[in-house]
Amino acid sequence: MVITYELQAECDGARAGLLRTPHGTFKTPMFMPVGTQATVKTLTPEELYDMGAQVILSNTYHLFLRPGEDLVKEAGGLHRFMNWKQAILTDSGGFQVFSLGQMRKIKEEGVTFRSHLDGSKKFLSPEVSMDIQMALNSDIAMAFDECIPYPSDYEYTLLSTERTSRWARRCLDHHHTDTQGLFGIVQGGMYKDLRKKSCEDLVDMDFDGYGIGGLSVGESKDIMYDVLDNTTQYLPENKARYLMGVGTPDCLVEGVARGVDMFDCVFPTRVARNGMAMTHTGRLTVKNATYARDFRPIEEGCQCYTCRNYTRAYIRHLFKAEELLAYRLVSIHNLYFLLSFMRDMRQSILNGTFREFRQDFWKRYQDA
Ligand SMILES: [Zn+2]
Repeated sequence: MVITYELQAECDGARAGLLRTPHGTFKTPMFMPVGTQATVKTLTPEELYDMGAQVILSNTYHLFLRPGEDLVKEAGGLHRFMNWKQAILTDSGGFQVFSLGQMRKIKEEGVTFRSHLDGSKKFLSPEVSMDIQMALNSDIAMAFDECIPYPSDYEYTLLSTERTSRWARRCLDHHHTDTQGLFGIVQGGMYKDLRKKSCEDLVDMDFDGYGIGGLSVGESKDIMYDVLDNTTQYLPENKARYLMGVGTPDCLVEGVARGVDMFDCVFPTRVARNGMAMTHTGRLTVKNATYARDFRPIEEGCQCYTCRNYTRAYIRHLFKAEELLAYRLVSIHNLYFLLSFMRDMRQSILNGTFREFRQDFWKRYQDA
């Protein structure tokens, strides 16, 4: 096995473990910063490493369209191309393609779509997605799945979930490399019986780990937590579980409480560029006038580079002046915040105090 998961401790449903990859062993639960275009926007790999990033995620769809997987392969693979020395997970391209709406056509064979860059006709299938991800040579590849919109009726969800299982089988059959693991992706919409069936189909195929897809697509958080409750229980204990596209502190705590080990989301870096900082008490819109003369750091006690050196007033000034450093400073804080938040959560699981961690979090946190 190229990717293995070792469970170290369990506490009130939460798991602490170790994920072994060809580029090192990493601690879970973990948050994976997103480097859509083979870069985590505005940050260097050294800065990511220094703030404790472990595995980062990159997008197959975007790299397939530009610069193309052949070029990345020629450069020596994605790690060398982007100068990231730890592990990389690539998604399958499915989520982006299905987000194109009217611009794509789904058949059993695969999906035809038009590039959002130049309108040219493209094709993705389980086999093509595996070929691209093998060329990128990420540590973890994701199976090509269909991510359906919310809400979707039972009939279509059933049809799509069954197809995702057939596509998962085709991914496994086509995937052939000893330097990359492959995760299956559980679908099933918001229907518990379909989630269970999807888990059973994929677990039978024995993937290296399991993504949980099709959540955080517009449903309420209560529905998401309920679906999660009815998903992780059907996944094997000795494999990593990865909740895809989720990255706000409340969802991280509740996901971990339901046995999830890995998360990713563009949220921390995307909102940073809009002047929104993440803190233990909720969101802080640092570019607001309230902070014009506020000479405190974004979050008192935060050990990130930004909070050790800059004030809210200065960062607000940078936003007002549209200076590029503004985006960098808040991105650094937001990612540091989430990564250290996950480290603290992991420590509480190892200490047997996760229940208290979760309670303390909800006492302080207000979702804006
Ligand atoms: Zn900070």
